[in-house]
Amino acid sequence: MSDRTPLIAGNWKLNLDPVEAAAVASALVPAVADRGDTEVALFPTALSVPAVVQAVQGSGITVGIQEIHDQPGGAFTGTNSAAMARAVGCAWALIGHSERRQLFGETDEGVGRKVTAALAAGLLPMVCLGETLDQRDAGQVEHVVTRQLAAALGTLRPDEVATLTLAYEPVWAIGTGRTASPDQAQEVHAVLRAWLRNHYPAYVADQVRVLYGGSVKPGNAAELLSCPDIDGALVGGASLKADSFAAIVHAA
Ligand code: PEP
Repeated sequence: MSDRTPLIAGNWKLNLDPVEAAAVASALVPAVADRGDTEVALFPTALSVPAVVQAVQGSGITVGIQEIHDQPGGAFTGTNSAAMARAVGCAWALIGHSERRQLFGETDEGVGRKVTAALAAGLLPMVCLGETLDQRDAGQVEHVVTRQLAAALGTLRPDEVATLTLAYEPVWAIGTGRTASPDQAQEVHAVLRAWLRNHYPAYVADQVRVLYGGSVKPGNAAELLSCPDIDGALVGGASLKADSFAAIVHAA
């Protein structure tokens, strides 16, 4: 872990209705009260955001939306805007999660537009990147993640890029129980940071946090988080219960 402030984020996906989400969030507040510098963020389903915002009020835990549209409003049935997410208390927008890319047709260019929309509304983008198993086996990891990164950043100014959080999530490790080894994860995190260093002033690569995601659990978190370029974790399954998520927070 570097001197960047560690961040542990929970992606609740399509789980936990507002009552259940408020219960997990309320249990988490005392369980991570002694987390020191480590930041904690929760991404409930959009309908559960208000209940979670209320449950974590005053705790320093922040809340994000799992998906936004790139437009501020209009005839876009069934989605949410960044400004509306901000209005109900979100600090973050998760953008480009592999499930959005694989199941809902999200493109690299769409990710870029949503990053711009999030920043315009005052949300902090958390941009997910990662290769499939086929791409890894074909030796394309660096090519894929830097292509995704370049498209996500587009023409943003360096000071905007510096506010972003990246989440490296190898698709083959998400929800599979199969985690990247610390060496495999660190290698890709270092690639992402080197790319930032080559394209922006040095402070950008120093500031951008790169989280690891993919079957992070209490038992493997400490080892992953000890890598120099891993600044935290984006946690799916193990974030759904306050005790396992709190154990990961404490590993940071
Ligand atoms: C995720 O969906 O972002 C994720 C990392 O899931 P899991 O921890 O369940 O692999």
